This record gives sequence, C-alpha cells and structure tokens, in this order.
Amino acid sequence: MIAILKPGTSEKQRDSLCDWFRSMGLEVHVSQGQFQCIIGLIGDTTKVDINLLESLSIIESVKRITEPFKNANRKFHTQDSVVDVGGGLKIGGGHFEVIAGPCSVESDEQMLEVGQRTKAAGGNLLRGGAFKPRTSPYDFQGLHGEGLNILRRVKQVTGQPIVTEIMNANDLPLFEDVDIIQVGARNMQNFDLLKELGRTDKAILIKRGLANTLKELLMSAEYVMAGGNEKIILCERGIRTFETYTRNTLDLSAIPMLHELTHLPVIADPSHGTGKASLVLPMALAAVAAGADGLMIEVHPDPEHALSDGAQSLRPNQFDDLMQRVRKIREVILA
Ligand code: PEP
Ligand code: MN
Repeated sequence: MIAILKPGTSEKQRDSLCDWFRSMGLEVHVSQGQFQCIIGLIGDTTKVDINLLESLSIIESVKRITEPFKNANRKFHTQDSVVDVGGGLKIGGGHFEVIAGPCSVESDEQMLEVGQRTKAAGGNLLRGGAFKPRTSPYDFQGLHGEGLNILRRVKQVTGQPIVTEIMNANDLPLFEDVDIIQVGARNMQNFDLLKELGRTDKAILIKRGLANTLKELLMSAEYVMAGGNEKIILCERGIRTFETYTRNTLDLSAIPMLHELTHLPVIADPSHGTGKASLVLPMALAAVAAGADGLMIEVHPDPEHALSDGAQSLRPNQFDDLMQRVRKIREVILA
C-alpha cells in the first residue's frame, strides 16, 4: 500500500503516522521528496482502513497494491484449488461437475424423478431449495426441514451429493447431511452467516449478489476462509443491469476474471443468469467455453407447475441434450 502525504505535512505529523503504521505490524518505507512524501507499507495491510486513512487531513491519496483478499488470492496460492464435494467428486483444477435439480424441493416424487434423470445424463450433483429466499412473502417459501429430508432420501437412491441453500445460521444443524451448502445471491453479504460457515468443514457455494462486484464476492469468500474453511466454490449467476428481456445479465467475463484473481473454483448458473429456459443451453455452453469449472442448472419434470422458477427450468430431456453439448464444448476447449 502506498500513502501520499499532502505538501506541507510536518515531520512530526509524518513520524506519528509512521509510528501508527508500525504499531499495526507494518514495515514502513519513507521517500521524502522536495515537495511531497510517499510512504510505502509492506506487510499485511488487510487490516488498514483505507477510508479512515484517506480521511486524515495530511493524506493526499492512498493506493492499495495488493487486493484486500488474501486467502482467496491467486498471488499467494498459484495452484487451482480443488474442492471435494462428496461422493468422490471434485470441482476445480480441471475437475468439472454439473449440479442439476429444481429450484425448490416440492415432493419425493419430483426430486426422485429429477435426481434419476439428471444423474443418468451426467448431472452428478443434485440441487433443490428447501429454504427459499422469495421476493414476495406470499410466494412458496420452501418445505424447510421436510425438504432436507426429501433430499436425503433421494440421495440414498441416486447417490448424488446434495446442494441446498441456507438462509439462517440457526438452521445449520439441519444441514449435517448436505454436501454443498449454498449461500444465495441475497445472502452473499450476510457476514454473520459467512462467519458461521467458516467454522464448518462443509463445501460452501457462494453465489454472486445481484449488484455485487467481483471484489465483494471475493471478500465474501474471504470471510469464510478467514474462519478456517477453505472449501469454497464461487458462482456467477447473473447481475442486475438495465436490460429487461432477461431476468439478469450473466456476466461471462466474471469467469476468466475470477480465474485470474483467485485459485477458487468458479461455476456458472445460466438458469438464474437469464431467467428463460430457451437461453439456458446457449449460455451454459458459453460459460463452459469461458472456462467454468461447473454449471448449476434448474431442471423440473413439469416446469409449468413448478412452485418457483418454472420459466427458467429445463425439462429432463432438454437437460440430456445440454449435457451432450457441454461434453462436446469441454472436448474442444481441452484439446
Ligand atoms: C437458487 O439457486 O434457487 C437461488 C435462489 O439462486 P440465487 O440466490 O442465485 O437467486
Ligand atoms: Mn431458483
């Protein structure tokens, strides 16, 4: 980090600022020019409050050289992280997996049909929301504990590791048999929840918030990692833009950008990313071509009657087709 002092700063003011930096455990390098003084800070500057520093009367400007995320940063961990997601499956570092299933868990029959059909097509992990973050309180809110029981029963039949969203840290005891705990877009910055998940040893899927930058997404991963849990998968699921034909705008550039910035695996969710079943296939293929380590796809046996997100859900036969094409794109990009 570099801090430039305002012309006219006295030696006494400069020295007391340097002492303050040293008290934070930082190494301080002072370059005193004729008119201006530049202070270079070396060490763990993640604890330095850049806004506070900028607000000091003697500071002209402050620049961070390294990003504020450390554990997630590729600079300090050049190898891709591989996350163990249960059932002998891995995501990241060349391991690619597809998570498929309905938006909401509705019944044993629904989940069993989707589980068996998606598994047969190569969707090795099963998703389904039991706690649903709905915009309207009058919409279906999920089956809660019973939804998790259904997922557990289907897992016993199909063997698919299960992925489901948590909304409240108090529900954690219910998630014991869940393989990947999803933090939804709306909870990406629920810092208490992230801290609590940092104390577990579960794989955590963090979805990008509707209006969050990649830096903010990485800082959310950092919250979990700072607690000691390194098993994080990031998910690009579309962001809110001025476009209205699509539900969200799937930010494909986020995939290679995140790969440059972090060693964590990155998957894409073209279902929430577009909101339209007809767009899921092309955007899934594009995400794979952009280097995604996996996909999350909403699949429902009867989308017209789905209790949530029917418009963006594929039928099982459409998912079969998607998987075949995804395999072809994978072959091309790996060739
Ligand atoms: C979901 O996966 O069903 C979901 C609610 O996703 P998001 O948090 O990305 O909206
Ligand atoms: Mn959904």
